[in-house]
Order: sequence, then structure tokens, then C-alpha cells
Amino acid sequence: MKKTGATNGSSSLKIDYPPKGHPSRELWSKVLSGMRDDFTPVAYDTWFKHIQPFALEGNKLTLYTRDKTTKTTVDHRYLPKVKDFLKRTTGIDYDITLNLEDGGSGDDDPAPVLPSNLKSRYTFESFVKGKSNELAYAASMAVAEAPGKTSYNPLFLYGGVGLGKTHLMHSIGNFILDIDPYSKVYYTSSESLVNDFIASLRNHSAEQFRDKYRSLDLLMVDDVQFLMQKDRSQEEFFHTFNALFFSNKQIVLSSDKHPSELKDLEERLSSRFSSGLVVDITRPDYETRLAILQKKAEYENIPIPPDILQHIASNISSNIRDLEGAFNKVIAQAKLTKVPITIDLAVEAVRDIAQAAEKREIDIPYIQEVVSAFYNVTPDEIRSKRRTANLSLARHVAMYLIRKILDSQLPSIGNFFGGRDHSTVVHAIDKINELMDADPGLVNKIDDLEKRIRDRT
Ligand code: ADP
Ligand code: MG
Repeated sequence: MKKTGATNGSSSLKIDYPPKGHPSRELWSKVLSGMRDDFTPVAYDTWFKHIQPFALEGNKLTLYTRDKTTKTTVDHRYLPKVKDFLKRTTGIDYDITLNLEDGGSGDDDPAPVLPSNLKSRYTFESFVKGKSNELAYAASMAVAEAPGKTSYNPLFLYGGVGLGKTHLMHSIGNFILDIDPYSKVYYTSSESLVNDFIASLRNHSAEQFRDKYRSLDLLMVDDVQFLMQKDRSQEEFFHTFNALFFSNKQIVLSSDKHPSELKDLEERLSSRFSSGLVVDITRPDYETRLAILQKKAEYENIPIPPDILQHIASNISSNIRDLEGAFNKVIAQAKLTKVPITIDLAVEAVRDIAQAAEKREIDIPYIQEVVSAFYNVTPDEIRSKRRTANLSLARHVAMYLIRKILDSQLPSIGNFFGGRDHSTVVHAIDKINELMDADPGLVNKIDDLEKRIRDRT
């Protein structure tokens, strides 16, 4: 790589950038013009202006920046999107490296970017507005635009399962990070929050726990109905809540019920939860359901006759997760059997979903499904070999519940988890018993899961 004298008089600039028309510059302008709409103007001006293309050899694109913050931010948050964009538009998998110039302002280490736990496809753009969610949408948008600065603090979203609460929370986080990638945004499920807290007690790292949560700009806690045991985590959460609230940091919470109906919640917490804006999401009407399906079809780029979408929309009204389930079923069927998408497929998919909702047999796959939904992972992940903390916990809980509810043989349980050995299952069950001894919260959660499975709700 050639690094020679300055090219434009600036003393610290040490790189000979290629002239106009150079393939690296052509490719980079393609990125800049093509991705303008994907980023907010602020994100664009703040980060992309400070990047220079340097070389293009085969599929290797090399870029430079003089600014370490730009490098860290773009590496973390934007390069994956740029790669996706190039893959989509050129069909080529580019290998992109962003280097820091020698004379760059490289000494001031920026704070590391906190993993925010956000799913990038849950955005305001992909969220369909309708009567049932328009207030929740508007409030979420207001909070995203001025976090901590509105009276909507905390913002408390509640409503039944599969109606878009989690989607909206992620949208708020994604929106804020898009404008300011250094914003300290953190999304967590209640169970991870409690686990984190319990781990901090066990490891004598309470201080670290406090530092982590109390330094946030935006804390989002999903499904706070699972925070409910009157134990030290509620107490700790109360203090975390206050610390953030009184320094004007934004808090967003979700639950399946109104705060006043959360039975085991301490009074002081429930009054805190209600002190900002409490807004519910209800079941979507037909128009909204149809619009959601249309948007999905558009996004997936699959032409589907309108009467098919109409059939699904008019027959599935329970929630959006089921609606998506029926849609995916039709698409999968059509793909697998290579038949054109007909109304028959739709009729069948709707019937399947309706029946599944009615009386699903309690078997191993069903328990895996319920447990993975609870831990926000997919059944495939729960069966996989991956071992993040959350996945392992979900997997162990699923094994435990399968043994308890179905009394299945250990080797057969192992088979349903990617062919694991029976000793792995034994270990998982021991582990859960051990964790439950130390954590009444987990006992409650597992009881709750067991009830859900037995009731098929
Ligand atoms: P909840 O957290 O309320 O249980 P989710 O946010 O997980 O529900 O939503 C379930 C599924 O439905 C997700 O895939 C989500 O993207 C989708 N969804 C929910 N509401 C909408 C909406 N208004 N527009 C588009 N998709 C939606
Ligand atoms: Mg949710």
C-alpha cells in the first residue's frame, strides 16, 4: 500500500488518494448515492463524509478515515449495511476494510459501543400504522425523536401477545442509534435483566451492574410482567429507574397488562410505571391486517394475488404473529412444492394456524416453541449448537420442562436438540434445579411457562 507525501497541503494527510474515476471511487459514490435514503441526514453527514476510498482490488475495497470515532462507528454500525447494499445491488460480496490514517486523531479512545440488542428489521418504517396501534406508534416516535425530553417518561406500552410491542421498542432504539450511534441504548427482556442482577450479586459485582444500567441514555425493558417477584431485583430496578428518570434519561417498558393490574408489583414501582404515558395496543382491524400482509409481500418481493392476502387477513384476527405465521406458511408451501400460490394454499394455511391455536398437541417441538418464544430465540436456535448465555438458558429450561411435562426419556430429549447426548440433558436439568434454588424469579417463570404449555396459551 502506497503512503507518500501529502496530496492537498494538509501536513498530517499522508495518503495518496486515487484520482477521480478510479474504480474504488466509482464504487464508493455508488454506495453514497444509493444509501442516502437508508441513513438519516445526520448519520450521513456525521460519518460518511469523513471516509475516503483508497483501493479496489478484486472484491477488496479499502477505505480510509482520519477520525477514530468514525472508524469505530462505521465499523460497528454501518459497514455491515454497506456490504448488504453492495451485495444486493451488484451481487458481489465485498470485503471492506476501513483503515485509520496515521496522522488521524487516533489517540482519544471513544467509549466502546454498547451492544444494544436490537433487531435491525424492527423499525418504524416496517411498522404498519392502524387504529389499534396509532397512539402507541405516535408516542414511540415522539420518544425516539426527543428521548428523555417529553413527558412520556416512562413510556409504558401494553397489550396482548404478538401485537407489536417489541417491534415498537426496537424501532425507538434503532431510530435513536441511527442519528447518534454513540447513544447508550439498551434493550433487555425482564428475565435477562433479573439474571444480570442475580449474577451481579453472585459475582459481587453490584457496582458494575449499577454502572452499566445507570449510565444509559435509553433503557428499554420488555415484558415487565416477569419482573414481578417481590425480591431484591424489584428493589434494585426501582433505584435504577429513579437514577435514570431523575437525570432525564428515557425509559420504555412493555407488559401484557396495565401497570395497575400487575399484581405482584410493588406499589411504588407501579406508580412509577404509570407516571409517564401508558398506552395500549389492541388487536388490529381488517384494514391494518391486510396492510401488514401487503407490506410483507412487498418486502419479501413475492407477488401474491390480492385475494390470497385478503383471505388470510379476514380469517386471522388474533394477533400479528399468527397473521405472519399464516403468510409464511403459504410462501413456504409455494416455494417447497414449486406450485403457484393459489387460494387453496391460503385456505389450508389459515386452517392450520386456527387449528394450532385451538388444540395443539403438547409434544417436544411444541414445548421448544413456547420456550423459545419466551426467551426471544427461534426453535432452530434452541436446537442448535450455539451457546450464548440466553440460548443456553432457554435450551436448559426447555429440556427441563420436556422432562417434567412429558416425562420423555433422556436420550430422546437429546435427539430433539440436535442429537445431544443424554448426559447433556441430565446436566441441563441439574443446572436448572440448581438455578431455581438460588432464584425464586426463575421458579416463577418456569411455573408460568409450564402453565402456558399445559393450557396451550
Ligand atoms: P409483542 O411484543 O407485542 O408480542 P411483536 O412486536 O413481537 O409483538 O410482534 C409480533 C410480530 O408481528 C413481529 O414479527 C412484528 O414485526 C410483527 N408486527 C407487529 N405489529 C406490526 C405492525 N404494526 N406492522 C408490521 N409488523 C408488525
Ligand atoms: Mg414482545
